[in-house]
Amino acid sequence: MEEYNKRISEVKNLISKADYVLIGAGSGLSTAAGLEYFGESFEKNFKEFIEKYNFPDLYSASFYDFNTQEEKWAFFAKMIYLNRFNKEPLKLYQEIYSLIKEKDYFVITTNVDGQFEKAGFEKERVFETQGDYAYLQCENACHNKLYYNYDLVNEWLKNTKDCKIPSNIVPKCPVCGGNMEMNLRKDANFVQDENWYKQDKRYGEFLDKSQDKNLLLLEIGVGFNTPGIIRFPFEQMVYNNINTHLVRINKDYAFASKEIEDKTILFDEDTNKIINDLRRKE
Ligand SMILES: [Zn+2]
Repeated sequence: MEEYNKRISEVKNLISKADYVLIGAGSGLSTAAGLEYFGESFEKNFKEFIEKYNFPDLYSASFYDFNTQEEKWAFFAKMIYLNRFNKEPLKLYQEIYSLIKEKDYFVITTNVDGQFEKAGFEKERVFETQGDYAYLQCENACHNKLYYNYDLVNEWLKNTKDCKIPSNIVPKCPVCGGNMEMNLRKDANFVQDENWYKQDKRYGEFLDKSQDKNLLLLEIGVGFNTPGIIRFPFEQMVYNNINTHLVRINKDYAFASKEIEDKTILFDEDTNKIINDLRRKE
């Protein structure tokens, strides 16, 4: 406990002295924040679909190859809604925001649930590298435009019957007439639109300007699915820059290499508790 408190006060100190804060977030953050569709609530929310398709868990369900577009969009309407549209901002994200909002900050995330923006983070300061549930793209990636799907999702939900949507509201590409897909990176057809490149550029600019300054890397819930996007580059930055420190919060993988040990603070405790303790005035 004493040792934990010591780490907390070290991080508080790093935050207060930081000129720049770069947040790197993976799925562990949204799990900790309680995004509703995981675990037990999967069984509750997707009861009909589980009975029909024998889905063992959400992960398998999200890779299921549906026979028809009508079935596919009935399932994903629910998935997108629960991930993206149904809730008030998640408290944990809001608390993280309150912790760093006075700083010059930037967020890079592999999450596709849009929760940073919802919680108050400036859109221009959030780079979602892997897409966003709230957008559709052409399945064949025939053009690089994205389509906001809020209205569609609501229409699909309203009209779902027996795990199917009516054929006349199945989305089609306005350019090639082919099927549509969610804008999530899962193969080479992932569409990076103008905004994606803009955010990529902003991320690069943030790295450039913060490089020799007091930069704090706050990494939360980043595992080993795509470590090349956040985890490894963060370690490299700590290694290369004398004034860069890393706070790594990770229930399962709270370790780092020896070379950066003295500039890294590791937590495998509950993220909600850590963020709360960081916000507490002494
Ligand atoms: Zn197309």
